[in-house]
Amino acid sequence: MIAAVVIPAFDLRAALRLRPELETAPAALAPLPGTEAFVGSVTAAAAARGVRPGMRLGEALATCPQLVLVEQDPATVEQSWEEILRRLEELRPDVIAAFPGVLCRIARVIAGSRPTTLRPRFFVTGGEVLTPLMRQQITEAFGVPVVEHYGTHEFGTVAWQCTKMGGLHVSDDGVIVEVLKDGRPAHRGEAGEVVATRLHGFAMPFIRYRLGDLVTQGDPSCPCGAPFSTIFTVQGRMLDYFPLPDGRVLHPYSLVMVILDHGKRWIGQYQLTQERRDRVVLRVVPQVTPSNGDIASFEGAAREHLGPGIEFQVTLVPDIPPEANGKFRVSRSLVESDYDGIDWDHRRAMDLPPQPRSAPRP
Ligand SMILES: [Zn+2]
Repeated sequence: MIAAVVIPAFDLRAALRLRPELETAPAALAPLPGTEAFVGSVTAAAAARGVRPGMRLGEALATCPQLVLVEQDPATVEQSWEEILRRLEELRPDVIAAFPGVLCRIARVIAGSRPTTLRPRFFVTGGEVLTPLMRQQITEAFGVPVVEHYGTHEFGTVAWQCTKMGGLHVSDDGVIVEVLKDGRPAHRGEAGEVVATRLHGFAMPFIRYRLGDLVTQGDPSCPCGAPFSTIFTVQGRMLDYFPLPDGRVLHPYSLVMVILDHGKRWIGQYQLTQERRDRVVLRVVPQVTPSNGDIASFEGAAREHLGPGIEFQVTLVPDIPPEANGKFRVSRSLVESDYDGIDWDHRRAMDLPPQPRSAPRP
């Protein structure tokens, strides 16, 4: 049996267990203390009055003056995750497919309180970035491997993890994947934007379509012998780029090594936010309480990575709730960048000149 774990508006559902009368009222999750003033998930009644998840608090209240703000309740959230774990243990699935952030959250229940009998053959993750720290946490908690799947609504499966070599096999049979860096093909190991062409979409063609994802260019064929080209890593969304004051653009994935080198022992879950062009905040749910020295050493390494003139601060928080769609967002930028001008959801046709393809296929 394959179990798929998808829980939209999980944190709001948990909070409403204590106040069920609000389920049909215009209600939204209040921002957590110490975070920006954005509302979280919203009820259907709030959505019908124009309130969107992630809206600034002031704007949400101006849009819907009757909006009730529901405080998040960490104890109910924890209890709900335990119930999900118990339910999965009863189902005993062979394979579990989920957003990696959801699996990490279940892994935290196991790490925090109790052993588990849940032993699927493997996990399949997709839908959001699987960071190396997430992979490690899931593998350690359950003792089973994680297989990464990279797919999109428009193309279905774009690539899937090679279990021998670790990179991802591209679905060359169904899609042409180009990885472009500044408009030219990225070199091996270089990160670039995915532009894809669907080969069998006859009703709705997608030709050199910008998916808005950032991946690392791999090899033309996989060393495992499978007849597929590869990409090495899926790093995240182009929207998550951090535009810095000196004109550099940094993808937060590049801070991964700092997190692995300096924070692996104490970081349970994290979210990087660029609040201003010159200020980045890392919110951390600690798995053990770090010393002041741990935090100072981490902040020092991150500042060195970010370069001069960028403030960097670590803030410890009790929880980082998922977005309204059930995904955990590892990073976000509140700064406008060139990529904001592209409406990724509605108007993403390729506007770059065609690239010469390296060699014609025989
Ligand atoms: Zn392979």
